[in-house]
Amino acid sequence: MLQFRRIILSGVSALTLALPAFAGKLAIVIDDFGYRPQTENQVIALPQAVSVAVLPNAPHAREMATKAHNAGHEVLIHLPMAPLSKQPLEKDTLRPEMSSAEIERIIRDAVNKVPNAVGMNNHMGSAMTSSLFGMQKVMQVLDHYNLYFLDSMTIGNSQSLRAASGTSVKVIKRKVFLDDTQNEADIRYQFNRAIALARRNGSAIAIGHPHPATVRVLQQMVYNLPPDITLVRPSSLLNEPQVDTSTPGQTAPTAPGKPATAPRNPFRGVKVCRPEQPLQPVYASRFFETVGESIARSNLVNYFRNQWQGWEQSRKS
Ligand SMILES: [Zn+2]
Repeated sequence: MLQFRRIILSGVSALTLALPAFAGKLAIVIDDFGYRPQTENQVIALPQAVSVAVLPNAPHAREMATKAHNAGHEVLIHLPMAPLSKQPLEKDTLRPEMSSAEIERIIRDAVNKVPNAVGMNNHMGSAMTSSLFGMQKVMQVLDHYNLYFLDSMTIGNSQSLRAASGTSVKVIKRKVFLDDTQNEADIRYQFNRAIALARRNGSAIAIGHPHPATVRVLQQMVYNLPPDITLVRPSSLLNEPQVDTSTPGQTAPTAPGKPATAPRNPFRGVKVCRPEQPLQPVYASRFFETVGESIARSNLVNYFRNQWQGWEQSRKS
């Protein structure tokens, strides 16, 4: 019996020694670019792996996209998409009932205004991204332009992953919003959450905005990352496993102005992207924490954890 325990323990130590191979990859995207050149220039001065997403119809869109690209940053188009709640919308905000031709025109225009973009993420968009019909039209166009889609996950029931099936569009998802408040302690807390998730799942994507408080936190924290965390571009995460958390019963196209489901936690007139509906908690995490830390980081266990999350979320939704 003692010998058996010894064998198990040495197996666990071997796995622990192998840990650096599972270091966490962290991607940071600062979106809503194009309105605040002064703060945005400070973002561009950060390490090249910090990426930026530009609103195509913002006054400084082209200028900031070009500057960011020339400084070595990955550039995304930050495309406005219709939210479920009523609020002022950007020009050319995508709506589910728009025709394919209209969506194509808007995306073509955005590609022209945000040079060198390699991906796209949604600005707001709970009504649009929860419409399978709407997102299928978006994915057809993104396929044509060879752009990946970073889902800002402003609603848990986003259909982006499902809508991309049958196209070559890669979909990745935000895990953490850095700055729901502009309090530096809160932003540091969120940044550390992103680090913990990257370590636990192998990778994580955090989205922030060009606010002075966010920039100050990034200026401290991106230069002091733990040794097992690597800052990466979102495009280096396109082949990471993704979990589809959407609910099949809620994918019918919505009539104009009449969303199929009201958000449980509606937006209250804030312009930046924030979750409009809280994401489901990870029910399986406590179970998996009881498995040895090192074993829990293996790809196989991550796979089952991801599957488990998917099952839990579809059951609870
Ligand atoms: Zn936004």
